[in-house]
Amino acid sequence: MPLRTGIVKDERYMRHETSAFHPESPKRLEAIYRMLESPDMQGKFVLIEPRYAGPEEIGMIHEQWYIEVVAKTAGKPHTYLDADTETSPESYETARLAVGGVCNAVDAVVKKEVDNAFAFVRPPGHHAEADRGAGFCLFNNVAIGAMYAINKLGLRKILIVDWDLHHGNGTQHSFYDDPRVVYFSTHQYPYYPGTGSVQEIGRGRGKGFTVNVPLRTGPGDNEYVKIFRSILQPVALEFKPDLVMLSAGFDIYFKDPLGGMKVTPRGFACLTRIILNIADACCDGRLAVTLEGGYHVGGLTDSCKTVLNEMRGDTHVTEDELKQMEAEANPYIDKIIEAVKDQVRPYWKALQ
Ligand SMILES: [Zn+2]
Repeated sequence: MPLRTGIVKDERYMRHETSAFHPESPKRLEAIYRMLESPDMQGKFVLIEPRYAGPEEIGMIHEQWYIEVVAKTAGKPHTYLDADTETSPESYETARLAVGGVCNAVDAVVKKEVDNAFAFVRPPGHHAEADRGAGFCLFNNVAIGAMYAINKLGLRKILIVDWDLHHGNGTQHSFYDDPRVVYFSTHQYPYYPGTGSVQEIGRGRGKGFTVNVPLRTGPGDNEYVKIFRSILQPVALEFKPDLVMLSAGFDIYFKDPLGGMKVTPRGFACLTRIILNIADACCDGRLAVTLEGGYHVGGLTDSCKTVLNEMRGDTHVTEDELKQMEAEANPYIDKIIEAVKDQVRPYWKALQ
């Protein structure tokens, strides 16, 4: 029996417009939506309607004055929040719809209307800080979704996995001293936005609950699988989240124009399986995935497809295959794995 996988998709997400040649364009979602309508995908997913999040919900993460700054761009021609973060007349509304889409996906998963869900929204979110937009992001969709799960749905512990090429500075900072949320990120480093060193492990009561795996260019499927299985998996199983959220950026795809990673569509399915295994073991499979980056449109589409098929259980990467990949990972990756473990070992028995 396939699982019930929800998807958030809505034509209104195209209304956030960026200038010509900006990599974060509506064409990304247009291609994904076409894939969802293809004969082998059509009708397989439960449609989750998005809604417009209000300032109170967005305010669980963002400063009200910053929300006002974005609100004031409504109806105005192109403005810039930072060098590469633009708004168009309908960007504010679209960003509210992205937040509301993720919250509704979380809602559907937690209330068991679906087994898991993927929110295909834009603009993306993980670079957005409490008081500023950055890196193509206006509001931090995933961080707000996590706070929604805690404040509105009464969940206690959330695991956020972020495999986007870039470090999710906004998400990390949202929960830096908060032990209710584990934030685990793999990312190219040093690179935009500059944060995400191994030493950044959280603060105060949140110490050990931020886990950063900064990577030079080059890692592919096997190396990512090894990192996920040797760091994320033990930490997550010990943390026992009530919900797993994923910031799914596909700019680690091997042909992505912005990145230097070598992950294939099959590799994305493997990483998804590791995350699904964690969700199955800890929280009855509850997983809410949100689109972040990914700028090779064909690769983005193919990879979203393999992730969805894995989520629905139409494909199932076996434990044997994951073990094999781990064994075949290039040993250069061991050094960074050990460095990360050294940093967070005092906080996790599973790493001791
Ligand atoms: Zn990215």
